[in-house]
Amino acid sequence: MDPVVATLSYDVAAVRRDFPILGRSVTVRGTGEAAPLIYLDNAATSQKPRQVLDAVIGYYERMNANVHRALHRLGEEATTAFEESRSAVAESIGARSPAEIVFTRGTTEGINLIASAWGRANVREGDEILLTEMEHHSNLIPWQLLAAEKGAHLRFIPIREDGTLDLDAIESLLTERTRIVAVTHVSNVLGTINDVRSIIDAAHARDIPVLVDAAQSVPHIPVDVGALDCDFLAFSGHKMCAPTGIGVLYGKESLLADMRPYQGGGEMIRAVWYDRAEWNVPPYKFEAGTPDIAGAIGLGAAVDYLRRIGMPAIRLYEEDLTRYALARLEEVEDIRVYGSSPDRGAVISFNVGSIHPHDVAQILDSDGVAVRAGHHCAQPLMRKLGVAATARASLSFYNTAEEVDRSIGSLEKAREFFRRVA
Ligand code: PMP
Repeated sequence: MDPVVATLSYDVAAVRRDFPILGRSVTVRGTGEAAPLIYLDNAATSQKPRQVLDAVIGYYERMNANVHRALHRLGEEATTAFEESRSAVAESIGARSPAEIVFTRGTTEGINLIASAWGRANVREGDEILLTEMEHHSNLIPWQLLAAEKGAHLRFIPIREDGTLDLDAIESLLTERTRIVAVTHVSNVLGTINDVRSIIDAAHARDIPVLVDAAQSVPHIPVDVGALDCDFLAFSGHKMCAPTGIGVLYGKESLLADMRPYQGGGEMIRAVWYDRAEWNVPPYKFEAGTPDIAGAIGLGAAVDYLRRIGMPAIRLYEEDLTRYALARLEEVEDIRVYGSSPDRGAVISFNVGSIHPHDVAQILDSDGVAVRAGHHCAQPLMRKLGVAATARASLSFYNTAEEVDRSIGSLEKAREFFRRVA
């Protein structure tokens, strides 16, 4: 592994050259001219640098074999690379041991794993599960399923007008029936960075474990599970420069050791008889079947890549760029931005007058600017905000102020077009 060299700034132009897709152009509808792609949908999934693509191809070209089983050379090399990735992930988020890192398909599977394996054993009729009003469906539906199965109830930490959580409400929401708290670290709609440490302290004062949905935090801000003291934390590789299909569930070793398995199959057992089995130790107890080996190796390369730039530097850069984008957006007439937390990530949801966000996204797309429009898998939050949908621009460490300027130009074009047809 290369040494990790973290400074507080980096050469964005050089970083951009690492991403083959950022060099492509798209045809502008109407004029037929070629324009550089401006990718502002990073909250949905990030682009991948050459280093990650090479790691994935390199695995298939040089060491393709199953892990943990084969005694031959390829199996040994694949297993080493796979486990090195686990160690890199553990180190990057401050886990005490690689045994606390379970490879999953993504955030969604990590949360389902906890709701199923931990939840089914610990949640009973009449118990409560505390969430927030800004959860992605991935951190809502698994708990709804568990609550329905067990006769438990969901409670929600409310959000305030500015899109921050009303943490004053938490004391009354944590009761003797609360079994687990599950909160998002960074909202994929409002951009709010939640003070999860305060929530964790309040829950731990009552011996209640906390799961953090870190899908939008680990790719963008330094996250240290030791400093947070969270019990579980889930995130997705594909939002942090790694391939799709690989994700991470961090769990405190003692909790993982006590948990029953999630799925049954190969790898997760130590000994098997026709009528019973003994479980393997964590993390393998939760990794039934052949894992996404290439994905895990790609994730290791992505972690190395991000650490070489440095998460503190990425955070500073994205903070500046987001501030700039918000200031430029404010110049657009009739703009409404959702969420004004002072502590925010690089996600900006907005609407322009009464123009449908899908129309906004389509006009931007015709200029080569990729943004998202829709409910962003947070329908209850949309209802709370009083909208059916928003447009969403989500920035990354490889986006530039020039791209923001060009996107604002397209947005003005959209506004002008609809002003004329209105
Ligand atoms: N939680 C949040 C906050 C998210 O933004 C997302 C992805 N949009 C998810 C969970 C789900 O991630 P995945 O689809 O990679 O499992």
